[in-house]
Amino acid sequence: MITIRRPIVVSSGERVRLTVDIDVDGETRNVWFEVAAEYRDYLCHERADAFVIGLLYWSMLHHHDIVCEAPIGEDLIFQIRTYLIPALANNSAALHPTVITAEIDSGTLPNAGAVGTGVSCGVDSFHAISAQANSPYPSMRLTHLALNNVGSHGGGSEGRRNYEKHRQHVQAFCKEYGFKLVLSDSNIADVFEQNMLVTHTYTSAFAIYALQKFWRRYFYASSGFGLESFSLTNSQHFSSARYELILLPTFSTPSLQIYSEGPNLRRLDKIRAVAQYEPAFRYLNVCGRFPSCNKCRKCKRTLLELYAIGQLDNFSACFDLAHFRKHLDWYMIRFLSKYWQHDTFYVNMYPLLKDKISLKVWLLAFLRCGPHAMFKNIKNKRKLRGKPRVPATC
Ligand SMILES: [Zn+2]
Repeated sequence: MITIRRPIVVSSGERVRLTVDIDVDGETRNVWFEVAAEYRDYLCHERADAFVIGLLYWSMLHHHDIVCEAPIGEDLIFQIRTYLIPALANNSAALHPTVITAEIDSGTLPNAGAVGTGVSCGVDSFHAISAQANSPYPSMRLTHLALNNVGSHGGGSEGRRNYEKHRQHVQAFCKEYGFKLVLSDSNIADVFEQNMLVTHTYTSAFAIYALQKFWRRYFYASSGFGLESFSLTNSQHFSSARYELILLPTFSTPSLQIYSEGPNLRRLDKIRAVAQYEPAFRYLNVCGRFPSCNKCRKCKRTLLELYAIGQLDNFSACFDLAHFRKHLDWYMIRFLSKYWQHDTFYVNMYPLLKDKISLKVWLLAFLRCGPHAMFKNIKNKRKLRGKPRVPATC
């Protein structure tokens, strides 16, 4: 059983925290969310909404029910109870259909009307910024960008160091291009450890709802899976981006809309758009290291994508292009390995790269990566086969 006590706001110099005690089977854990003092009035202490969202998947995975001392907004709790929890639990035997007990708040909170999106300086983020900064729909134009430290930077002191480097990079971009930046920090990922790939939409929505009285609209940059990749089967094994079609409407209410940005675009479509967005030429960073490492999963994929669309040269400030060109065979071997594993991003790239693969690379890739790709395919099929729960209504 999880009991979420009543959230309170605590000031400390130039920073202010929304903080709450959470009892898990009698053990108390404190979760806080921190922003600059100027955002104090927008922290939502009246409701448990943010904390229920942030802990929902963790609760289902660890088979807990939730009791809240503070109320939950009526639209939000209706949607979570009616649509989200049954949809997740019916499609994965690993997930408990968590029961949430709370008073319902049918009132309306004040709202500053801010329109935002996250700013990681990655491909999805720059696509969202370039598309929404000058939206033809006046009420959809961005007023602020947000950088939230809610788990994507890793845990503990290393996570905090990663966040600090990321913050400096993002602040430099925002200063140069005149964007207002909302910085937030939280310990939620340390106190309730989760697989960020599986739960990033929940923890991001936690940060949005902690400032529920600030944001009116928020564009959540879709990870480029596209609607055709929608799935709820055994969701504990894959990115929550694959079912944002249900998740984001569940977390949207008449007073706070969270939109998926670019859900109908493939990753390559986004790369093409970002390759035309001049601020990205110096600030694109996909791997969280500064400067970019050139070798991690995200760097490899982005370098190959830029190479595939013939736009690599504009990004010489973001990557070590001499290293990429010198080791092109190495990158192409990894490309084929991922392609053979049916990775969607690499399957989409294949038509653009297939004529650039030498016979030597084909042979080396087959010898080094062929058996591994075959093994991964078998493993992935087993994961997706799953044992979904029989829906209670059948
Ligand atoms: Zn990297």
